[in-house]
Amino acid sequence: MSPRLRVPTAQPRPIPRSLWRGFRQLCPACGIGASMEGYLGVRGACAHCGEKLGHIKADDGPAYFTVLVAGHVTVPLVLAAEQAWHPHMAVLMVAALSGLGLLIWRLLPRMKGAVLALMWALGLKGDEVQGDVEGHG
Ligand SMILES: [Zn+2]
Repeated sequence: MSPRLRVPTAQPRPIPRSLWRGFRQLCPACGIGASMEGYLGVRGACAHCGEKLGHIKADDGPAYFTVLVAGHVTVPLVLAAEQAWHPHMAVLMVAALSGLGLLIWRLLPRMKGAVLALMWALGLKGDEVQGDVEGHG
């Protein structure tokens, strides 16, 4: 083990701090090492503190929150632009869809980091099974 690598101990996992670190695509445990690699890849473990992250499966959570935020940003802007300037529909659609695409492109990896960090803070791995209403499963 390298001297830089610290063994993670039982530490508090505050959700706001973890979310902020995750949104910046940093390790939720130390806030120094990267939690992501490439565009949407999750590192197996933090290069700084060694916290294991690769086992956490965020599934559709990041896409859901990305669309939720991007939609709530884009739609009011489109409506405001329509009210203010009455642009041609084609111009408005090209501008809105370009902005939406750009926002989604920039937001999705950050949302993935945030969801990953939230799951880490809550001790979830993404393979938890929910029982049905009658308590089976
Ligand atoms: Zn770390």
